[in-house]
Amino acid sequence: MKVRVRFAPSPTGGLHLGGVRTILYNYLFAHHHGGEFVIRIEDTDRNRFVEGAEQYIMECLTWCGLEPDESPVKGGPFAPYRQSERKDLYRQYADQLVASGHAYYAFDTPEELENMRKEHRKDEYSAAQYDSRTRLLMRNSLTLSAEETQQLIADGTPHVIRIKIPENTTVTLTDMIRGEVSFDSSLVDDKVLMKADGMPTYHLAVVVDDCLMEITHAFRGEEWLPSAPIHVLLWEYLGWKDKMPQWVHLPLILKPDGNGKLSKRDGDRLGFPVFAMNWTDPKTGDVNMGFKEMGFLPQAFVNMLAVLGWNDGTEQEVMSMDELISKFSIDRVHKGGAKFDFEKAKWFNHQYIQQTDDATLAALSRPFIEANGVNPGEELLLKVIPLIKDRCTLLSDFWTQGHFFFATPELKEKAAITAKWNDTKVQFFTEWAASLTNITDWTEQALEESFNELAATIGLKKGEVMLPLRIMLVGGKYGPGVFAIAEVIGMEETVKRVNSALVEIAG
Ligand code: GLU
Repeated sequence: MKVRVRFAPSPTGGLHLGGVRTILYNYLFAHHHGGEFVIRIEDTDRNRFVEGAEQYIMECLTWCGLEPDESPVKGGPFAPYRQSERKDLYRQYADQLVASGHAYYAFDTPEELENMRKEHRKDEYSAAQYDSRTRLLMRNSLTLSAEETQQLIADGTPHVIRIKIPENTTVTLTDMIRGEVSFDSSLVDDKVLMKADGMPTYHLAVVVDDCLMEITHAFRGEEWLPSAPIHVLLWEYLGWKDKMPQWVHLPLILKPDGNGKLSKRDGDRLGFPVFAMNWTDPKTGDVNMGFKEMGFLPQAFVNMLAVLGWNDGTEQEVMSMDELISKFSIDRVHKGGAKFDFEKAKWFNHQYIQQTDDATLAALSRPFIEANGVNPGEELLLKVIPLIKDRCTLLSDFWTQGHFFFATPELKEKAAITAKWNDTKVQFFTEWAASLTNITDWTEQALEESFNELAATIGLKKGEVMLPLRIMLVGGKYGPGVFAIAEVIGMEETVKRVNSALVEIAG
């Protein structure tokens, strides 16, 4: 049997990193088994539908390098892959469930439902649900005669179709991560399967489509576990139990302190992204920061997510996509939630930056540099990258760690020079700057030699003038070797920075 898996997002907003991890595990599992990975858009809830969200999800997949084999964009043998375009297909299954006595028509108005919930309170706090206790008090095809029901439908009375959850039954399923999981049916309500607008709900559509699309393994977040008994019953009632996929409910990604699910608000509060890419809420215009825009390499982001809740049984953490595919197995996915650690995410990114060739880094870092209003030539960028890459954790660091190569910096740490300034140093820098025009071989080595010689002649220790030189060229106390910087920025710029620093210090 060919492995077929699906990620079935509802287009309602940004793509949370938990969603990306579910996509990734689908992808790894499919590729490991030579199977197929499908994207199906679950857009039947028109109230939650958000314009642009589907396209955004597809862009995130492309950025992560997790391309599906079948999708609304790519098409495939089970098209269409958007549930709204499959609308007409679901009704027959709902009718079949009514005919076999596992579902019923319900005509209750919103007020009637509200009254029932109030009147039949389960306890002080929670209202009653539509279930075996209350369904016989309501207006539905179980309480009305067949003629009345037919008449109401013929009159076009708004109605839904509800599943009839059996009383006092234990529904059991086998989950590949958790093993056997049982549910008491009396805790489950008679969920709506078909809405009054003719659209199926998620519960019906997910089962019908997983069956029709021949899905063999259903990966999804643990938050869907409470819905699983409804789905298991539907598979059974539709006569498809032998085709039911294997369930894989993935544990949650937790807040850094382990207290609950990682949410968008935690990211805002703690200063890190939770979405794969920037997501702009079309209603409010608010932009939520993404890992991409923060300066993550997609390979690092994906690798970090792979080991957030899974390991290969060794200490190895940095793994290529090919390694991940060959090593991935569901039995090594942890049962408990995984705490998100942003420092660890950055560690992965640093590792990947070191592994990436300079030409690729030049292309990736360019937008982060150009965002500051400079446009360095390719040759310059290729000289700078090897000098600073070991100091870069995010792609944006190619600007913060290298801005002085692309634009004349401000003398931010001037105080560190003036604290120990004297006339001998003025003389030294004035003479050194003047001598630079005579250097024919403009290299790091030649510059260092001339610097050392002059310091010795004037009677200064090299150590006394190195830090001032760095601050003159960089603006601060950081950066790679100071003569390497001078070599790259060139003679004219070096002389200019030393001389203007002398003026600024004197002033
Ligand atoms: N449409 C559901 C979601 O938005 C999919 C859940 C499932 O995979 O069954 O997460």
